[in-house]
This record gives sequence, structure tokens and C-alpha cells, in this order.
Amino acid sequence: MKRVLSLLLVSCSVLSAFTQGKKSENIVVVTMDGLRWQEVFQGADSLLSFDTTADYSYKYIQKKFWLPDVAERRMLLMPFFWTEISKKGVLLGNRNYGNYFNNANPYWFSYPGYNEIFTGYPDTAVNSNKKIPNPNENVFEYLNKMAEFKGRIAVFGSWDVFSSIFNEARSGLFVNDGFRDLNGQLTEKQKMLNKLQHEMPDLFHGGERLDAATFNIAFEYMKANKPKLIFFGLGDTDEFAHAGKYDYYLDAAQKADAWIRMIWEYIQSTPGYKDKTTLIITTDHGRGLAIEGNWKQHGSKISEASEMWMAAIGPSVKATGESKEKMQAFQGQIAATIALILGKEFKPTHPVMQALVLGSK
Ligand SMILES: [Zn+2]
Repeated sequence: MKRVLSLLLVSCSVLSAFTQGKKSENIVVVTMDGLRWQEVFQGADSLLSFDTTADYSYKYIQKKFWLPDVAERRMLLMPFFWTEISKKGVLLGNRNYGNYFNNANPYWFSYPGYNEIFTGYPDTAVNSNKKIPNPNENVFEYLNKMAEFKGRIAVFGSWDVFSSIFNEARSGLFVNDGFRDLNGQLTEKQKMLNKLQHEMPDLFHGGERLDAATFNIAFEYMKANKPKLIFFGLGDTDEFAHAGKYDYYLDAAQKADAWIRMIWEYIQSTPGYKDKTTLIITTDHGRGLAIEGNWKQHGSKISEASEMWMAAIGPSVKATGESKEKMQAFQGQIAATIALILGKEFKPTHPVMQALVLGSK
């Protein structure tokens, strides 16, 4: 029986299975905060697209994002996911097939979610969105102690809590989050982006810049500095959902899909990255269903808010496309997976969830 994904302990046999396959030399992680699996796998939600009482433009949604056929509709919303990743990568989390991808932590909001992704430890002591330095070691921090990765790791985020999540002070990682300017030797474009991020509308009232700023600042850094590990933490989807603006939320998801295409095209056209870089895309938590406005919310009181998705493409990922296998995986498995596909083992002092084996048979 063909298994597109199996959950195995990090053991010698798994490691050798990977090195016999293709190891990656670089990893790019992109997150879209609180983007639901429903939109990833089904496109614009039928109830929300036809809600004539909604506090957003359902007519705009129907015109831009609606098609009756689910496969066509999801491709309309996220064309890179459903033309490239669906052919050359793997997509996990379509619950219509019993393919489950969830938070392991019981909180289903941002800090605990990002902690789980990057430290592999769904620590119940991490249960606040406050700027508390993360007690747990993240996989970037762990790899930064190795000569081949040292100083070649970058973290970018729209939300200004990422510097706490990655414990910038302890980890020594390069972090650019919130409205922080990039320092050092800058290109003209980078100087312009520093300026522009303060001139864009402050839609989220401090603490979080628009993703257009984060993406461009991070992408220019990637081109100029060629980091081996880079994180793009996008936030617009979550903010617009909380505001009840389903039209803006869909726009944000579509723009992110286009940015991910740009990142992938850059990777595949750049020596040092080409065929050596795995791109992992996921989210920090899910949200509720369309009914009763629960799609705007998440957290443990919303029963569906731990339901998520993950996608990956690159040399370490077998091109199995949308997974239709009945299985359960967790975001906490991503940290060990990042190390594993780089040919390393993530062994911090705290517990770590086992790695995923992406697209193996
Ligand atoms: Zn979030």
C-alpha cells in the first residue's frame, strides 16, 4: 500500500531513508496566520460568499473568488498551491478525506502555535500571546549552533511577538518583526522598504505591520544575504478574519499564494538554492466554521480551531500532491522535520514531537 505520509520516530533507518533520497541544504518556512484548511482545500466558503447580511462585500467575493466547482474555486484562490504544490509537493489537512493536521497544544491561538511549530514542544506553560521570552529552544536556534548554519538564519514577521517566540535575546537569531527597520549595509530598495512600512496604513493599530511590508523586506533580505534558513511570518489573514472582513481575508490568502510563488521561482532560479531548498508552508491555528460567525474566531472555546493544514515542496518532499490518506499529524512535528531534512537531529533539552516523513512511500 502506498503511504504518502508516515509518522515515524527519528531513527537511523529514517535518516538513511532521507539521505538516500534527497537532503535539503536550505529551508524556507512561510506561515499564514489563522488561514483555515477550509479555504486552502475548498476555496471561498459557500455560506460566507452568499451571505447578503455580511459586513463585507459578498459581491466582490462572488466576482473574484467564486466558482461552483470546488477544484476550480480553490485554484482560483490559491493558484500556486493548486498548480505547483499539488503536482510537485505535498498538501496535508483535507479533512474531507480523513487527512487530519492539528495543533497538539490545547490553546489554538498564535504564540502557542508558533512555539509548537518551531520548538516541536506543545508546552502547556506557553499559553499567552504576551511578549514573554520563550523558555523552549527552537529548531533555528538549535541549528544556529552548528558552523554551517551560524549567522545564516533569518526570522521575519508581521507581528511584533516573534522576537519573543524565537527568544531573540537568548537565541541570538536575526529577527525583524513588527515595524522594525532593517539595519546595516542596505540596498536602495531596502532603504525604501524601511520608509514605506511606516507610510502604509496602520490597519492593526500598532504591533503588526501589513504583510506587503514583511514579505518585501524579507524577500529583499533573502536575495541580498542568501540565508540558509528563513522564516516569513505573515499575519493579514488572521487580522482580517478577526475584523470580520472575509473579502480582505481572501485577498490576503491570494496575495500570500502569489508571494510564495515568487519565493519558489527565486529559489529554483538561484544557484545555491535551486534543487537544494525545501519550502514548508503552514499556519499557527485554525478557526471556527462559517455558522454564527465562528470563522472570525479561534481559541479553545471554538471546537474546530485546532484544525489546520500544511504544504511542502522541495527536494526532500516526494511529489504526492494532496494527501487523501486517513492520518493524523500535528504542527509540533515540523521542528524535527526541518532538522531531519537537513540531515540533522533536533535534540534540545525539552521533549520534541517526532518528525514527519513527507511524501515517503
Ligand atoms: Zn494566530
